[in-house]
Amino acid sequence: MSIYEVLWSPQRLEIPQRSRLFRLEPVGVGTPYTESLSSYLNRLAQEHCLTTQKLVMGEIAPLILINEDNAGLLQKNVSHLLSNSDAKPAINGMREMTGQLVTVLEQLTMRQDLRFLSLFCWKGIIHERGLFRNTRAWCHCCLEEWKQEKKIIYEPLLWSFKDVEVCLRHQQRLIEECPYCGSRSPVISRLSSLGFCSHCYEWLGKDTKEQENVEQYRVTIQGIGELIALTPQLRYEPISIELTRKLQLILLVFEQAIGKDLKLLGELGGIMEPLKIAAKQHQKKPYHLVKLIIPVCEKAKISVSQLFLFNFKELGEILFKNFDLELRL
Ligand SMILES: [Zn+2]
Ligand SMILES: [Zn+2]
Repeated sequence: MSIYEVLWSPQRLEIPQRSRLFRLEPVGVGTPYTESLSSYLNRLAQEHCLTTQKLVMGEIAPLILINEDNAGLLQKNVSHLLSNSDAKPAINGMREMTGQLVTVLEQLTMRQDLRFLSLFCWKGIIHERGLFRNTRAWCHCCLEEWKQEKKIIYEPLLWSFKDVEVCLRHQQRLIEECPYCGSRSPVISRLSSLGFCSHCYEWLGKDTKEQENVEQYRVTIQGIGELIALTPQLRYEPISIELTRKLQLILLVFEQAIGKDLKLLGELGGIMEPLKIAAKQHQKKPYHLVKLIIPVCEKAKISVSQLFLFNFKELGEILFKNFDLELRL
């Protein structure tokens, strides 16, 4: 076939499927600084030159609230979709609405990694009550640093947790009230721009030299960060019964270790009682991340990732080694 015949015999062009919304990449998936779902929605709205309100109520809500009139939805506030004020922080948590929001958002952007921007994958495993803040919180140094270095301004999922009181990178306390107008900003609002107050629109970043002592917060914050980072690595749905078996194993190791060396009672005594209760509890009940899982891992000298990613045998081996025990499973 001559070159002319090739050029003049048009073939169907393979056009990849297009997504309805821009396929914006979330920041830091697989790291402790994974972007939060609320931050992603905010940035996605900016990419489309829309307010978060218009994006959520115009594009996402009609696919969730299928029985409601589309034009009517656009007039309503985002809180209509996210229901009561209690739902505002929960957008980054494990509520059913978060699951629906993620499903629709993944369809519209044709991405599969947006499920890692909230804690929804941990539903039924981690206790949600009291875990999340009701309003936004930020490290003013992180914001200022990203601005100076012309990096993406976003809000890590880590900042949504009540127990994350400081930024370990800058040794600064997270801020919840705007220093200019004193207001607290909702996690999602009609008009909000990341890094700016949603009431007075002032820039919230600031460079500070004074540092806080953050050591007392380190274990908890690193534990939460690890949980966020490991979520995409879970090859199975984290099942409560599997976690219960692992906690029972840790309890057995602690009891054996104390039996061998009574001095360990002082170190492990505080966590034994809650661990005993947890190991016996009904297997469908979720576990407390900050009061149980993280301190148990610390005392067992394992990381949160090892607890969830290692199988029962691997975990047993490392635990026996950590406490110098001869036991075999
Ligand atoms: Zn910071
Ligand atoms: Zn303000």
